[in-house]
Amino acid sequence: MSGNPNEIKLVNNAMSNATRRKIMNFLSAGDKSTEEIGEEVGKTMLDFHLKLLQQASLIEIEEGTVKLSEYGKNFLKEKEDKSADKNADLSQAKPIEITEVRQLLPCIADSSKFRVIANMAPPLVGTLKVLEPLFPRGRYSDKIGALIIQKGEVITTIYGTGKVTLTMIKSESEAKEALEKLRSTINEAIAKGVAPAPREKIRVEPMEIYKYLPQTNCGKCGEQSCYTFAIKLMSGEVSLDKCIPLKEPEYAINLEQLQVLSAYV
Ligand code: SF4
Repeated sequence: MSGNPNEIKLVNNAMSNATRRKIMNFLSAGDKSTEEIGEEVGKTMLDFHLKLLQQASLIEIEEGTVKLSEYGKNFLKEKEDKSADKNADLSQAKPIEITEVRQLLPCIADSSKFRVIANMAPPLVGTLKVLEPLFPRGRYSDKIGALIIQKGEVITTIYGTGKVTLTMIKSESEAKEALEKLRSTINEAIAKGVAPAPREKIRVEPMEIYKYLPQTNCGKCGEQSCYTFAIKLMSGEVSLDKCIPLKEPEYAINLEQLQVLSAYV
């Protein structure tokens, strides 16, 4: 199944019927004979239902034994994952506190601004993703397990571990205000549920990426300059791991920030 419109139509048609959905779920427990399926879902039009599932490549039938195809297994798994996401809610989440501002450091991209590291407790772990719609410019990144929120030039990153970072902050009081706003927004959502904010499209510029690269133009990535690398990273032609110097400990924070920014690329 390549996912072309005709094939998608076949799958949608096959799965639009309750009996056929029941067959698919029954088969998820293991291969069955047509007899067993008939006993489970009823024998009326069983051949027809099986044929439609087979045409959609969701099942395979061999000498009276019916089993899920690889595609059928993936299809059910995807559906399960999606409904787990949809059902994830904040009912188990406890109100959070931003317990401490651990560090206030000069920002790498602009030394007149600060980078703040704070701690959120208890950590939101799995529920972070559910909070994404709260923020007009929020995006959850599975890759780094963090919710990234952009507001003006300030980027706030909330990690599943409870670590919170803010970049391009002008003063300690701005940091405190931003963290307090974050705390109250999240706690209100925990108390009342998530009210989605209108989405805003985010665009990261190559210059923003460039600011966090080593800017040595060493060429180890195969590009002529760090700026060319930044442009190619934006278009998906290169990946961050091609920049060898970024793996050095002195660039650990730059790498973390670039991983955050690349979630928007
Ligand atoms: S390897 Fe990294 S530091 Fe060197 S030119 Fe490429 S992007 Fe710049």
